[in-house]
Amino acid sequence: MPVLTFTYGPLENNAYLVHDGRDAIVADPPDNTSLVLNALKREGLTLRAILLTHLHFDHASGCAALSEAVGLPVYVGAEDWEMKDTLLSRGMRFGLPEVPAFKGEILAPGSYVWGDMECRAIHAPGHSAGSLCFYIPKEKALLAGDVLFYRSVGRSDFPGGDADTLCRTLRERIYTLPSDTVVYPGHGPVTTVGDEAAHNPFCSI
Ligand SMILES: [Zn+2]
Repeated sequence: MPVLTFTYGPLENNAYLVHDGRDAIVADPPDNTSLVLNALKREGLTLRAILLTHLHFDHASGCAALSEAVGLPVYVGAEDWEMKDTLLSRGMRFGLPEVPAFKGEILAPGSYVWGDMECRAIHAPGHSAGSLCFYIPKEKALLAGDVLFYRSVGRSDFPGGDADTLCRTLRERIYTLPSDTVVYPGHGPVTTVGDEAAHNPFCSI
């Protein structure tokens, strides 16, 4: 199942498009919506869901444009959506433009089937209170947002973040996935669950 990566924005965010040749899902869509639309067209795919790993400005900047272009809402974790004004306005402190408002829909943790694609939304608090990681069992792929990076973890000093909670999330909900699961993080290179469980300097098993 191919996983396409689009890196975008001043903080080099990774957007991911996962598809099975027919159906597709996108996480943290890029500012440049045509990258996604062109990929859908080129591969003959139907987009089934727009996912947001968490509601930070750098991940959410492309949500409005893609949502409007394809007529789908953006699925967001409940705890983040409750704080959306606080979370989304933070980019302006760094001189970045305001995140355009978009139609969000709360996604409860659990298993979903979009088209023919099975995906599990895992509540993964610590970087933000409502962070979601998306696990695609058939592919052993995890779209991790800013919960887990190659040899690092997301910051926990933003509103709703907490370092102890983040490590507990990793130990109880992420490092318990199959060790050969490929982790697709919100920034930086891919890694695996087993590798980070053993070697992550901030939180290992
Ligand atoms: Zn973040």
